[in-house]
Amino acid sequence: MTNKMPTFDPAQGRRSGLPIAWTVDEAHIIRRSHGCTVLAPVVALKAPHLYSPSTRLELPGELAKLERGNKKAVIKFADTYGLLGYSNLLPTKEFAGRPVSDPVEWIWSHAETVQLALTLKDVLDQEDAEGLERTLKKLEHRRLKHQPFFVTFAARGNVRSCSFFPPSSHRRLAASILETIVNENISGIHPEIAWDETRGIFVQYSSFSTLIEAVYWHLSNVMSGGRVTRCETCGGRFIQTDRRQRFCPTGTKQESPCAVKARVREWREQRKRK
Ligand SMILES: [Zn+2]
Repeated sequence: MTNKMPTFDPAQGRRSGLPIAWTVDEAHIIRRSHGCTVLAPVVALKAPHLYSPSTRLELPGELAKLERGNKKAVIKFADTYGLLGYSNLLPTKEFAGRPVSDPVEWIWSHAETVQLALTLKDVLDQEDAEGLERTLKKLEHRRLKHQPFFVTFAARGNVRSCSFFPPSSHRRLAASILETIVNENISGIHPEIAWDETRGIFVQYSSFSTLIEAVYWHLSNVMSGGRVTRCETCGGRFIQTDRRQRFCPTGTKQESPCAVKARVREWREQRKRK
């Protein structure tokens, strides 16, 4: 994960079809609020800055790295990309009067759900039958014999369980799980139009209200024709935009920590051989 602050590029965002900016506060803390442990921005610091999540294809991979229990990693993620936007998913009356924050358990549920989606997409593309079986087996712990297959996943502001009826094949089952996870989480993204002053025409784009929707928007794009692969350094899965990409990308021109680690390792090995 990089600490380099992302910047807002409206033109690039418009080309991607999701030209919305997201706010990143300077710092975040984890605290108790309304009986729940939440991640919140530290108030009274410098003004927040903006960036375009649509240009940050590393978002799903970086979110998927957040391990349940690791609060430091959650804060670091928010310092780079901002809150995921739980407050915007609440009905207006529930949200009224509450400070803007993301429940930490909810963040971890989405991290696990995105990780599951990236894994299933990767093993499906690789036609890796063993990997597919292993991934599905991990989900099976709640399954009762002769019962439908239950999968628990984060769906927008909630966590829900969904049953999948006897699959004709593991591939079909994995595809159904992926369809459900992605469709549930992009259901709030909708088309809007805007007047393009320079061209004198209306343009259509997709509108979203939370960062978590942008994460699943990237996943939905990768499902049809994109590629997910594993980082050679950390083993995490990420959206690959170029077949030569071997390490977790940063989305900026900066080299990723995983790429740096690999370069240092190769350099040390070369020195040893000399
Ligand atoms: Zn990595």
